[in-house]
Amino acid sequence: MIPFNKPYMTGDELYYIKDAVNRGKISGNGYYTQKCHDFFKEIIGFRNCLLTSSCTDALEMTAILVDIEPGDEVIMPSYTFVSTANAFVLRGAKIIFADSNKNNPNIDATSLEALITAKTKAIVVVHYAGTACDMDLIMDVANKNNLFVIEDAAQAIDSYYKDKPLGSIAHLATFSFHETKNIISGEGGMLVINDERFDERAEIIWEKGTNRSAFFRGETDKYSWVDVGSSFLPSDVTAAFLFAQLENLQKIQSRRKVLWDNYYNGLKQLEEEGVLKLPEIPSYATSNGHLFYIVCKNIEERSQLILFLKDNSVHAVFHYLSLHKSPFYVNKYKSIGLENCDTFADQLLRLPLYYELDIEDQNRIINLIISFFRKR
Ligand SMILES: *Cc1c(COP(=O)(O)O)cnc(C)c1O
Repeated sequence: MIPFNKPYMTGDELYYIKDAVNRGKISGNGYYTQKCHDFFKEIIGFRNCLLTSSCTDALEMTAILVDIEPGDEVIMPSYTFVSTANAFVLRGAKIIFADSNKNNPNIDATSLEALITAKTKAIVVVHYAGTACDMDLIMDVANKNNLFVIEDAAQAIDSYYKDKPLGSIAHLATFSFHETKNIISGEGGMLVINDERFDERAEIIWEKGTNRSAFFRGETDKYSWVDVGSSFLPSDVTAAFLFAQLENLQKIQSRRKVLWDNYYNGLKQLEEEGVLKLPEIPSYATSNGHLFYIVCKNIEERSQLILFLKDNSVHAVFHYLSLHKSPFYVNKYKSIGLENCDTFADQLLRLPLYYELDIEDQNRIINLIISFFRKR
């Protein structure tokens, strides 16, 4: 069976974990946490960042930072992972779901203006498959209406919007290092702080609502409870694992991009024949080889293709179910229609893509898909 995903270990993880253990301090904000922060600031160019235990944690931090209060409205795409919504629901927000673009699952930036009310506090955008949302338009609408913007960049490491790294554009951004992402630490995540007004409070929320970080830097003579917060920081063992991955970022990324391009070129003829659709990368965006998907004609065809691939030892999987149709949402709110989101929920199919995927195996997947559509 060709699996859908296989986490890639660079081989340096145990070396750095052993070193972290030998250093004798494995709680949060230790040596490797700093090394990872430095990497993101110096190599990627983020202004400020904090490792977290997950992207979910980082999203929860953003909801606290922008001061979400019960009754506030937060606009986000319906085609996303539950954590994007949950982080804000936990603070009492009402989620206003926006539709996807017709040509890709990202939020339709032209639909935002009409969704804004006096209660709107923030817009959360998701760079699906690591492909940038239309950030200039989104930031313009937000600035005009005094709203915060948060990039859920969970899938978007090493991807760009007009040469700017994703995660560096909105007020705040979040990343995931879950084992299904390009760069991993089992569970793991990061908050990126682009607006300096959030710097001090982010560090406090990260450290259980205390000024512990400032205390250890000698900036205050005692360490006290100063705000709400939680234990959002990962162990230095997790950071050591992550650092091994970061050192191999370019190697991992170039391999994933080769595989992404090979799918694209191999399946292009089917798109030209009008049989299926391939990912569309807008001119302002890039692909970071996070995931490769095709869009089938309807849900029945997709189910048949999944079965056909499974019978031929290939594990392909669909992705998000529309959150505006989830049991949690429909029990609370009146139903809304989001046509493009539903199309991707019903018709999008993700193909195996991981560092160690063999080109021969990948070509077999491509040929299976071609033969499936030729037989129809
Ligand atoms: C993976 C993912 C998350 C959750 O990340 P965790 O690190 O598992 O919490 C959130 N949003 C999106 C868009 C994701 O792809």
